[in-house]
Amino acid sequence: MISHVLPTYNRAALSFERGEGSWAITADGTRYLDLGAGIAVNVLGHAHPDLVAVLTEQAGKIWHVSNIYQIPQQERLADLLVDNSFADTVFFTNSGTEAAELAIKMARKYWDHQGQPDRIEILTFEGAFHGRSTGAIAAAGSEKMVKGFGPLMPGFRQLPWDDMDALREAIGEKTAAVMIEPIQGEGGIRPVPDEQLQEIRALCDKTGALLILDEVQCGIGRTGRLFAHEYAGISPDIMMVAKGIGGGFPLGAVLATEQAAAGMVAGTHGSTYGGNPLGCAVGLKVMQIVTDDRFLSEVNRKAALLRQKLEGLVAAHPDIFEGVRGQGLMLGLKCHVLPTEMVAAGYDQKILTVAAADNTLRLLPPLTITDAEIAEAVERLDAAAGQLSR
Ligand SMILES: *Cc1c(COP(=O)(O)O)cnc(C)c1O
Repeated sequence: MISHVLPTYNRAALSFERGEGSWAITADGTRYLDLGAGIAVNVLGHAHPDLVAVLTEQAGKIWHVSNIYQIPQQERLADLLVDNSFADTVFFTNSGTEAAELAIKMARKYWDHQGQPDRIEILTFEGAFHGRSTGAIAAAGSEKMVKGFGPLMPGFRQLPWDDMDALREAIGEKTAAVMIEPIQGEGGIRPVPDEQLQEIRALCDKTGALLILDEVQCGIGRTGRLFAHEYAGISPDIMMVAKGIGGGFPLGAVLATEQAAAGMVAGTHGSTYGGNPLGCAVGLKVMQIVTDDRFLSEVNRKAALLRQKLEGLVAAHPDIFEGVRGQGLMLGLKCHVLPTEMVAAGYDQKILTVAAADNTLRLLPPLTITDAEIAEAVERLDAAAGQLSR
């Protein structure tokens, strides 16, 4: 018999009743050190007092108003996002998938607005993940996600990963946009080298194609900069964020330049819940905390500490690990074993990690993780790896 909850997830036999900072706690009080953070969502850890305060304060005032009215919380959050990015304008969603959906629509609308409605091709990359809507699965194009779901939305072309020749060949006057994660998350913490991002930007400039960056996982301070693309010194035309921006409250956004958004006039897009006062109140607090330079320099300091300890872990377990990759607190341990085996051994050691493709174990701790918790985490990973060695 089918479970009452649609069985689309491979769930662990674990549930949590509450959380405190970097810890997720079961009903019987067992504490798990959380290096998954809800897959890069809980950037400020669990039950951050400032987030609890803004959420409960807003909950006592008004939860939901339609986007047919002004929503001041949305405007303040948009101001902060615009002030801290390339963007001129922001649309709020409830998830990364919805942000991807709008990014795709916006790119098509841009070309329609330019009088080239047939210019619809969006170039994407093998190993990408942009969400689970019909548009987002068509964009990523992986067999696992698209099989059985019927005709895909046309207009996407997946290129091999890390193959600039393929991109140079594919991009041209039919290309509406190039869509890429600066660091692939689900794909296995695979960073696009800075020089490649710079060349992608240059190829877009040359052909007129829009550059869409998916920073749903790598954005909002995760890499030690507010947005991962800042390392390459480039900026996109359109960018999706979600996950971290709500700190655990469902919230996403599309950021865009005025030019890229030119086709998105009144009536062309909408959302019932997107940008509701609760989500935006929380998102504003998250952004106020994360955009503080001192916060980001702490992230970088802690990231260096974690990375150094992970290099030691890899050296100590060459039979289990191949190496460390990633940026900031978005780190991957490339494994010789199945990453799911490491995740399971981690449960025994009371540490939460997340598997990804390309045989990679993901470590995405809250950005507020402490030095002592980093040391504890690596000890627990060491014990988990020890369990798998034979
Ligand atoms: C998680 C993720 C998405 C989808 O976000 P949802 O909130 O799950 O819809 C899109 N792109 C990337 C890079 C992601 O990591």
